[in-house]
Amino acid sequence: MSDVTISVNFLRWRRLMLELKRRGGGRRESGAFLLGLRDGQSLRVKDVVYYDDLDPNALDQGYVNFHADGFSALWSHCRKARLDVLADIHTHPGGNTSQSELDRTNPMMAERGHLALIVPHFAAGPWWSKRGISLFEYEANYRWKDLSGALPSRLCLTVF
Ligand SMILES: [Zn+2]
Repeated sequence: MSDVTISVNFLRWRRLMLELKRRGGGRRESGAFLLGLRDGQSLRVKDVVYYDDLDPNALDQGYVNFHADGFSALWSHCRKARLDVLADIHTHPGGNTSQSELDRTNPMMAERGHLALIVPHFAAGPWWSKRGISLFEYEANYRWKDLSGALPSRLCLTVF
């Protein structure tokens, strides 16, 4: 999975950045699942589901704390939409987008190849900027591969 690319329509990405910012209100982390279709190394995002829509208490602690009920809502949404969970994305308060101990030891999906994105400054930066966004790929046993260095070429904002 190391040559993986994620394609997202730029309008969907813009909406995602604005929603993460709005839901976090500049004072707490927020996040979402990116759903879509996978074709080998190429992932195409077709839908976004926000943590606090699936689990209304997910953001209450200031950091993401997603509960089991949220997962059943997620699976039922995926089934209806016929889409897979490709990645998750969440915000961090400052410029540090390395994984916290919690991020590392609590993968939202403990599945090989699952991707996790972290956006700096509660997503308050310009929506089109990929600067500071980190990308991790889950391997196994709480081990992740850091793909952040190649993020600009792995995250493709598309017009189609
Ligand atoms: Zn985190």
